[in-house]
Amino acid sequence: MGKVTITFLGATSTVTGSRFLVSSERSKILIDAGLFQGVREVRRLNWSPFPVEPSTIDAVLLTHAHLDHCGYLPLLVRNGFRNPIFATDYTAKLAAVILRDSAHLQMEDARYAAEKGFSKHSSPLPLYDVDDVESTLEKFESVNFRQRVQISQDAYATYFPSGHILGSAFVLLEIDNRTLLFTSDMGRNNHPLLSNPDPAPALPLDAVITESTYGDRVHETPQSAFAVEINAAVKRGGSILIPAFAVDRTEVILMALHDLIESGSIANLPIYVDSPMALKALDYYRDAIKIDSPELRPGTATKWRNEDPFDPGELSEMRTVEESKSLSSLPETSIIISASGMGTGGRVVHHLANMLPDSRNTVILVGFQAAGSRGRSLEEGQKEIKIHGKWVPVKAAVAKVESFSVHADAEELVAWLGTIKDPKRVFVVHGEPDAQWALAQRLRDKFKWRVDIPNSAQIFEL
Ligand SMILES: [Zn+2]
Repeated sequence: MGKVTITFLGATSTVTGSRFLVSSERSKILIDAGLFQGVREVRRLNWSPFPVEPSTIDAVLLTHAHLDHCGYLPLLVRNGFRNPIFATDYTAKLAAVILRDSAHLQMEDARYAAEKGFSKHSSPLPLYDVDDVESTLEKFESVNFRQRVQISQDAYATYFPSGHILGSAFVLLEIDNRTLLFTSDMGRNNHPLLSNPDPAPALPLDAVITESTYGDRVHETPQSAFAVEINAAVKRGGSILIPAFAVDRTEVILMALHDLIESGSIANLPIYVDSPMALKALDYYRDAIKIDSPELRPGTATKWRNEDPFDPGELSEMRTVEESKSLSSLPETSIIISASGMGTGGRVVHHLANMLPDSRNTVILVGFQAAGSRGRSLEEGQKEIKIHGKWVPVKAAVAKVESFSVHADAEELVAWLGTIKDPKRVFVVHGEPDAQWALAQRLRDKFKWRVDIPNSAQIFEL
């Protein structure tokens, strides 16, 4: 047995930028290559040189399609990575949607910064462009769930469904006689479409690398709170804005609205999905139902054979910019679902600017709001937020419904991790510092495990 190390290149003290490097004497495997998102100091990390020569990496194991897990891949490829990127089918499909959107956004931002002259650089550059994305997509290699595949000379990977989003996986990596388990983003047992996360594999583990997004919290508000908020909003006579992550959250929200309308808990309001990326993702979810994908709950395809689960009744899909703009003057109480989920970019920013100053309107937050995001400012009750360089007064009602989270909360994580039999080491990542500390302490107290919270770039020998 040679030396095996793990280096934490991202998602330390933050929920973004997931990148973990596992090195043996014969190979280097990168688990996820995510983008840093959020406040400027965090985003700036995307521009630091990658600490390992990308051409020396033998394989990337991509756990799922969210940008904070796949968004750095095009830069890795641009800088010389030539080998396969392993991912499940739907992860590859959704990653294509997300990465193309990411390249467009970055190219737009760079152009905008150049025009307005507010960049410190004379000709601001995008991190990567659409060509980088296309060469990245060529490197994807499909893996099936629960099948052990060789990924380099001395390494094997097995992907297990994690119930977080379509295609998502937690991954077992076996390398030079060591076993490592990466939870990535762990789902819950209540997804309306996806099967529950698989149990952890029953073999001795040298290291478990666990997320901790909600490591210090439980999801308390029940789904019934959603109907309460919507009905209160209807009474006020304004419209409802739901910022939602394009992939998966939009689907979950639409299905919840479907249920509430069907059961008569809320009126059959017009619903607009205003995010091109969300609409593309929606098509893949429809496709998964049609082909009865094995990662869906049994019976899903039969249940929805004659009906679209994502159309609660009056669904409009706003694909063009003109359609999106038409939403700024809605004649009746309506629900707009738009990305990004934290109000950091995308069409939702325009809706926030338009809707926040009117006290009849309601914004319902349904996902995690990272520090520094506009969503977090709203969550914290700030009376004005900055949009496009101007302060916008927050007169609209702001509500929060946590039950839509597609991340396990502290109780659920501990319960899932608890099925693992005495891992030699546990590393807590992918959380803000309080959440990481809380989860780490609980795991030490409850299971007497050896738990570390790695610092950025810290290396551990296994
Ligand atoms: Zn995720």
